[in-house]
Amino acid sequence: MSNILIKPSKQIKYLRADVLRSNVPRLVNDAHYSYVSTKKFDNPTIIHLNDRLAKEIGFTSKEIASIEFKKLLVGKSESGIESFAMNYGGHQFGHWAGQLGDGRAINIGERSSANHTWQLQLKGAGPTPYSRKGDGYAVLRSSIREHLCSEAMYYLGIPTTRSLSLALTGESVYRDMFYNGNAAYEKGAVVCRVAQSFIRFGNFQIHAANGEIDLLKELTDYTITNHFKGIDKNSTDKYLSFFKAVATRTLEMIMNWQRVGFVHGVMNTDNLSIIGDTIDYGPYGWLDNYDTGWTPNTTDNQHKRYRYGAQPEIGLWNLWQLANALFELVDDSKALEGVLDQYKEDYGTSHIKMMSNKLGLIQKHERDESIINQILTLLEAHETDMTIFYRELINVNHSTPVDQGYTTISKAFYDHDAMSKTVKTQWIDWLSTYINRLKNQKDVAVERIEIMSKNNPKYVLRNYMAQMVIEKAELGDYSLLQEIFDMIQDPYTDRKVMDHWYAKRPDWARDKPGVSQLSCSS
Ligand code: AMP
Ligand code: MG
Repeated sequence: MSNILIKPSKQIKYLRADVLRSNVPRLVNDAHYSYVSTKKFDNPTIIHLNDRLAKEIGFTSKEIASIEFKKLLVGKSESGIESFAMNYGGHQFGHWAGQLGDGRAINIGERSSANHTWQLQLKGAGPTPYSRKGDGYAVLRSSIREHLCSEAMYYLGIPTTRSLSLALTGESVYRDMFYNGNAAYEKGAVVCRVAQSFIRFGNFQIHAANGEIDLLKELTDYTITNHFKGIDKNSTDKYLSFFKAVATRTLEMIMNWQRVGFVHGVMNTDNLSIIGDTIDYGPYGWLDNYDTGWTPNTTDNQHKRYRYGAQPEIGLWNLWQLANALFELVDDSKALEGVLDQYKEDYGTSHIKMMSNKLGLIQKHERDESIINQILTLLEAHETDMTIFYRELINVNHSTPVDQGYTTISKAFYDHDAMSKTVKTQWIDWLSTYINRLKNQKDVAVERIEIMSKNNPKYVLRNYMAQMVIEKAELGDYSLLQEIFDMIQDPYTDRKVMDHWYAKRPDWARDKPGVSQLSCSS
């Protein structure tokens, strides 16, 4: 029983291992990965298990109930399968940072379900050759945030890495949460992440930067074979096709973020998955009031490089860096640039499509673009809750009187009394244009509601909710963790029992550290 839960990852067989086995931080050359053992914690406890995901990725109920499964999730598997950390580099905040690598993530093996092979990775299970100045561990607060948000994104229909379990290591970790000299001991935790691949843009960049073209080629071939099955491995332009496919997936992922108001917070090239999954949940956040200039990441306060409104453009910038890395294989800069130009064009189309879906503008109309542009400006003119606005707008239809429509959507306004007369007039004008526009598509009124309900979530993982979960969990109470976990698993359906979570951000949460301000310290 003990050795059949997972198999060695295919990457071990097809990619190159570091010849050194020590986990002392160092530069690693000529290797895609380094073997490394997980820390064997004395007293770990699993505090939340994602049963549903365990089954989805192929574990049977009997396996899930086994001791070996529990050991696997905390890095104490007795299977004898070798674990490893991947080598990657990256551009951090616009600057090449050289080798980064899995500094606190250890790949423990893979599991196959009926349709896919899943990689399992422990985050926070000890140091690796890539830990640099870090300790290889993770704290409870950031692990809760990763555990919840991975699943929230999945159920919103957004490509993402998943989270199978959350465990306390039983050890303390020393962290300076705001890099302000107030370091303290916090509870250590481990999350078991699951994805079809954890390979990032940075994996390609490091080999290009090191001049390891053979390793770059091996990694790209491996990725195409295993994760881009639609690409013909024998075609002469397979590397260009690969780059095109990555650009398409990246844009699709980011447009989904824009749709639900998710801000990643650290879109460095080492945090962009090559298969287009949302990866590395650090100082991420969700828009309460719609604000294109908002970022939750205090490390990025000055330039706000990774603010909500800049995410599509940063996706393009990151693809530029990937193009530079792949140039050695494609050897055609014009063709690579063509892909980047296409991204810009596709962004325009998918932005209109996304917004049309959110607003329920089904049958195309010449006025749509201006309706979209106006609402995006108006949403920022007075603090307006993004999630509540779109969700309430579903209740406005072609026969709704304008003042009634206004009352309906005004639930989304923060401090409604403070709204200026000019802005109120603009809202009334916009609503009357919108309601008139809906008159052109009366015959699809039902479809409109369906489309809007599928594109505008009712429940999102607002920053204050994660913080409430964390504060309780720090005291050993996991009841709220379970409740929010239930909430995120069905974000588009009206649910009476969850009604209290369909609310604007409470006042106490406006400027609270951990809610509106987060750092990379995790
Ligand atoms: P991030 O910005 O969190 O994605 O991390 C950037 C790099 O720092 C990655 O190479 C991480 O593996 C590494 N890193 C972050 N936190 C730690 C830590 N506590 N110990 C070791 N490495 C870390
Ligand atoms: Mg990272």
